[in-house]
Amino acid sequence: MQALAILVAAGRGERMGAGRPKAFLALCGQPLLLRAASVFENAPSVDAILAVVPAGELAAARQILSPLHKLRDVVPGGERRQDSVREGLRQVPGGFEGIVLVHDAARPLVEVALVEAVCRAAREVGAALPVLGLADTVKRVRGNRVLETLDRAELGAAQTPQAFRFPILARAYEEAFKAGVELTDEAMAVERLGAPVLTVPGSARNRKITTSEDLAWAEALLAAAPGVGA
Ligand code: C5P
Repeated sequence: MQALAILVAAGRGERMGAGRPKAFLALCGQPLLLRAASVFENAPSVDAILAVVPAGELAAARQILSPLHKLRDVVPGGERRQDSVREGLRQVPGGFEGIVLVHDAARPLVEVALVEAVCRAAREVGAALPVLGLADTVKRVRGNRVLETLDRAELGAAQTPQAFRFPILARAYEEAFKAGVELTDEAMAVERLGAPVLTVPGSARNRKITTSEDLAWAEALLAAAPGVGA
């Protein structure tokens, strides 16, 4: 095995208000989880896929993902996103030296080219993620008071998939948990060890589906250009 993709889909999706975890909601008739997983199925660098889902959705997820040839397992997630990622990392064989990718199932419109780019960058330096430049001016705010305006040229929004040589991410995660750090992505765990993290250009299509407006946006995008990104 050269590269394993861990798809985290164990969120409750409360902001969506749909009564079902959002990875199981349909986007143009196909669950977000299957759409996202299909991109990794089609990515030449990836040879295995692991899905992390809510404990109550194991059977449903196995059924949904049954068309995939690269599916290795479906396992239950944890309370926080970082707990779900850790559950995924626990399934990786100890001596594995290849690449682990972590991807939000809630980003179903990720492109194969982005998966390949982030994999290449991680093979080079050990850790990489897609970052999208910001269109808006960004303020640091406390309560309703502006503290300062930040230099937008140096800021970017972190996306997934984030890719790592497994030993680097395994160690970074262990250290972060030991220190009780709240992680909002995987790269953050590696950054705090002072290890290099490369960026590749993120993609506007690769937006995280959080609200019903995001889902409507994705439906409209697919209606305009069906099949793109799959
Ligand atoms: O909640 P948020 O949108 O940030 O979640 C990003 C991704 O992490 C989603 O795909 C979600 O299913 C996953 N997640 C998870 N386990 C959690 C929380 C979120 O796998 N406990």
